[in-house]
Amino acid sequence: MGQIVSEMMVATDPSARRSLLDLTLGELERELVAAGLPAIHARALWRVIYRDLKDDFAESAALVPPLQRWLAANVGTGRRFFVDSPTTRTDLASRDGMTRKFLLQLADGQTIETVVMGFAGRHTACVSTQVGCAMGCSFCATGQMGFRRHLQPGEIVAQVRQAQRALRAGGHWGLRNLVLMGMGEPLHNFEAVMTALEIISDSRGLNLGPSRISISTVGVVPGILRLATEQLPYNLAVSLHGATEEERATLVPISRRWPLAELMEACRTYFGRTQRRIFFEWTLIAGTNDSPAHAERLARLLAGIDAHVNLIPLNPTGGFEGIAAPAAAAKKFQKGLQAAGIPSTMRQRRGIDVAAGCGQLRAEKMPHF
Ligand code: SAH
Ligand code: SF4
Repeated sequence: MGQIVSEMMVATDPSARRSLLDLTLGELERELVAAGLPAIHARALWRVIYRDLKDDFAESAALVPPLQRWLAANVGTGRRFFVDSPTTRTDLASRDGMTRKFLLQLADGQTIETVVMGFAGRHTACVSTQVGCAMGCSFCATGQMGFRRHLQPGEIVAQVRQAQRALRAGGHWGLRNLVLMGMGEPLHNFEAVMTALEIISDSRGLNLGPSRISISTVGVVPGILRLATEQLPYNLAVSLHGATEEERATLVPISRRWPLAELMEACRTYFGRTQRRIFFEWTLIAGTNDSPAHAERLARLLAGIDAHVNLIPLNPTGGFEGIAAPAAAAKKFQKGLQAAGIPSTMRQRRGIDVAAGCGQLRAEKMPHF
């Protein structure tokens, strides 16, 4: 009796339902095989979901009747599986037409941001990995909001489908790159993020190869070491913002848990195991970390590492008083790095008029959440 009751509870418990977008191709194959269908059907369904980008695929002519029947019986309201299809709450294009920002509402009402940026005909999507963030960086709108919850793999995958669809509707070829630089700390949601990336990089579907995907982390040391050990082939970007323990800790409180010395050790281990160049992010804040002396300290910190620095002028946020480094200071900073032989790129502040800084659109639209 006890067992029957618990089975009934599982069948009706909405939290036991899974998104079809949470499944890797291998998992989808196993689901279909368990239902008595040939594994090859999974590939046809995969193509409809990730190449045709269809949501109403149960009736797709590309799928054979037994597969359509399985979908009708297993996917939809009250069934085992559902398909994430977040509602677009806001869709903003920047004045220069290069940035488009979506505020997406998830099934439980939470909202996240997805940004698509275009430059010279190449498009990059920037997706969220959590609702909010637990790391509390003082200058970041997402950090100021606190942590709400992790995203499921399907909720990350759904953002890429959304970006891909928007590009196709605009007559573009599609995404070229993906960065995990939206809301949240990807390495704090390691399993879900790695599952999502396996799905997104699958060449039979969305086909964004690992070398076109970048994971940005505030410096979650165990996550960096895991990427190294498991030889996961994505690009790694580490957000530094300060080159001494004291300076970094004022901007990035989590550095008290994983100090700079430990973080740099992890980066060296990562490089030793993967031989991959590491990107370092540096948000330039006037009077805080934008002087030639700061550039010198950063260059010293990175000595001997195959590093590339991305310089990002601060996007002002409501909960932080700082302002962006003036253009002249930013240029001088970059020159300092160059003199020390450290390559760097100055990120353009594109999309500021659509609040394209991390977490800013949600903060503006939903100040009380
Ligand atoms: N949590 C990860 C990824 C998301 S944040 C991380 O911190 O790396 C992506 C990048 O945006 C980080 O480098 C972060 O420091 C930067 N960022 C956040 N808020 C910003 C702001 N207001 N202005 C400029 N850069 C910002
Ligand atoms: Fe989180 Fe990254 Fe924002 Fe820091 S910068 S609070 S780690 S999202």
